[in-house]
Amino acid sequence: MTRPAKVIWWSEASRAPPLFDRPLSAHEKLTLSADGLLQADPGCALIVVDVQNDFADPRGALFVPGGDGVAELTAALVESARREKVLVVCTQDWHPLVTPHFKECGGPWPTHCVAGSWGADLHPLIPDWVEVVRKGQGSDDGYSGFGVRSLATGALRPTGLAGLLSKRSIERVLVAGLALDVCVKATALDAIALGLSTTLILDATAPVDLDRGDGELAVAELAAAGVTIV
Ligand SMILES: [Zn+2]
Repeated sequence: MTRPAKVIWWSEASRAPPLFDRPLSAHEKLTLSADGLLQADPGCALIVVDVQNDFADPRGALFVPGGDGVAELTAALVESARREKVLVVCTQDWHPLVTPHFKECGGPWPTHCVAGSWGADLHPLIPDWVEVVRKGQGSDDGYSGFGVRSLATGALRPTGLAGLLSKRSIERVLVAGLALDVCVKATALDAIALGLSTTLILDATAPVDLDRGDGELAVAELAAAGVTIV
């Protein structure tokens, strides 16, 4: 059952035209849809992927363009989830200083999210009551919140996220965070492969776009896999 859309407050002094008579900002659109998406539903969880300083703060080592806006939007979603008593799980990239995931050791990425560093901290807008699942330790790649692959042996290892969701009888997940074309994509694809009804909240994501168009390709791939895009 969909609840009526929440009425957005706007300042009369701003002389902004009433809502719906003007294009909505991403924040307003998200606030409107968040209430519909995040209704009190014990079978639903919000997965916030890697909203960490290195990705979401312009001073971060691997800042994703628009990542600071994503931090604000995901924080709004987390707050909606709190009101609706929806489970929130944040994934956290958590690498050793030396790993084949990093350029210096032959990997694709500059050094980022080193365990215990400021860059690895969740963005300050993310509250501390959320559940946290870490990934990318040791020689693991650390892309999906559900399972990681050892870059040394190729072995796959679960992170504990699937177990956490199953213990809470979660059947439906909403996915947001960073980066759309890397860890968000990998996490959403694994969610759908695990049989979870999966929705990507597109406004609350942003791509790295290492190659131009990677973000759009990721959305097409997710839609083809059965992920609902909103
Ligand atoms: Zn990483």
